[in-house]
Amino acid sequence: MREKNHDHKECISIFRKLSEYIDGELDEKAYEEMRTHINECMKCEVCLETLRRTADLCRGMKTREIPDRLRERLKSMVHGPSNP
Ligand SMILES: [Zn+2]
Repeated sequence: MREKNHDHKECISIFRKLSEYIDGELDEKAYEEMRTHINECMKCEVCLETLRRTADLCRGMKTREIPDRLRERLKSMVHGPSNP
């Protein structure tokens, strides 16, 4: 796992845009930036996979809302256990 130039703040902004990323609503530049970050950041990769699975489930249930509890869990994954 490489964390070259990894910036925690970047993870937070990635997290905010994950659902747009999955839905393909980002422009090309933002999409490329996210893809590069996710390739190098294990935490964001795990978040993306979890969210993508949930998005698939939600699509099946005809709702686009991500459950609050999952959102919180993903947020804590990004922040890490050391953060209050
Ligand atoms: Zn990250």
